[in-house]
Amino acid sequence: MPSIIVRPVDIILEKRNGAEHAPESIEAFLQGYLAGDVPDYQVAAWLMAVCWQGMSERETQALTRILTASGEALDLSELPHTVDKHSTGGVGDKATLVLAPLLAAAGATVAKMSGRALGHTGGTMDKLESIPGFRSGLTAAAFLKQAREVGVVVVGHSQELAPAEGLLYALRNATATVRSLPLIASSIMSKKLAGGASSIVLDVKVGSGAFLRTPEEARGLADLMLSIGRRAGRHMRAVLSSMAQPLGFAVGNALEVREAVACLRGEGPEDLLELCLLLAGEVLDASGLPTSQAQLRALVDGGQAMERFERWIAAQGGDVTMLDALDLAPGRDTVRAQEAGVLAEADALKIGKAAFALGAGRSRKGEAVDAGVGVVLHAKVGSGVAAGDALATLYHRDGRGLEEARSLLASALRVADEAPPAPLVLEAAPS
Ligand code: URA
Repeated sequence: MPSIIVRPVDIILEKRNGAEHAPESIEAFLQGYLAGDVPDYQVAAWLMAVCWQGMSERETQALTRILTASGEALDLSELPHTVDKHSTGGVGDKATLVLAPLLAAAGATVAKMSGRALGHTGGTMDKLESIPGFRSGLTAAAFLKQAREVGVVVVGHSQELAPAEGLLYALRNATATVRSLPLIASSIMSKKLAGGASSIVLDVKVGSGAFLRTPEEARGLADLMLSIGRRAGRHMRAVLSSMAQPLGFAVGNALEVREAVACLRGEGPEDLLELCLLLAGEVLDASGLPTSQAQLRALVDGGQAMERFERWIAAQGGDVTMLDALDLAPGRDTVRAQEAGVLAEADALKIGKAAFALGAGRSRKGEAVDAGVGVVLHAKVGSGVAAGDALATLYHRDGRGLEEARSLLASALRVADEAPPAPLVLEAAPS
């Protein structure tokens, strides 16, 4: 129990005035909140002050420690080379589906928690649940057993890990206080630290479909999270990657599983594979299992990564005989190029919103998603297109959201005489 007595209003005032809190003050304030003694409105006011005034690294470290310590922490110490990956979120980001079995095939253990779709960004658990029978909740014993025997287990976030983070996040969501680097860093890292992996790679996304729009902001977030993780004794790496256009071509739950399976079978898309190889190389190196890009590619080409994927999915109840026959919405519509040229822009935010309009996402926690709807692009930025070529196929159910999705896609996909450079990786491993 923190020993100092602080009045919540003084904490708010201190932050409003731009001062640095003592770690004990943050702890007392948040313990008061968790105990029900400090009301939501005072925490909300403090969050808004943090958004405007920021927090020092010392404060951010303290906040992360408090959030992490608010619940249980997974003990993965019995498992070899435990690794985890966190993406700050985006559109068409199905990297975990490819990366997790690839890492296990390389000798690491991936025992992790993943999130769900919110707004225009997708969530790994919704994607996995588009596979018939897949179970996203396991008992702690089953989780550890699968990690030991298969090397991969991925479940939804547990209420027992960093529960204070969940409460704070809900409040941030309702008070427009999500976009603050220290709050984002402490939110993400508290969950990662409670998740127990000894090596963690962060995929910090930059661009229209991401939280962070500029490389400078992304770099700031990456540095903060690296420092928090290292202070907590974890081996940390980070990659800054583009979310200006979606990753791969598919956006939508079952469509993305289909694309991840194709990637594991060595059938691309190349950007998805490249990112996964890079993330895998970084986190394996951090965990003491250095593996070259050529060796990793060989695990995909030789089928070991796909074989591990099937074992993983089957272990969690998923029907692997259905991987080539996932249920897709029957409606189809096509957006075509009006003129010849090159695809100069495929705005990830608008494409994510189009998939959301079709029913692929949720606006509030707990809402159902339609696993079978979404968007498949037919070109990446820089590809040549002829007038009349299909730029995107929309998978819709009975026309739900189709008009809005079409109009979003029409403005998201721009054909011009030339395209700007569209690098996938902005910084491979900021130190
Ligand atoms: N993702 C998280 O987990 N937390 C944030 O604050 C933002 C994105």
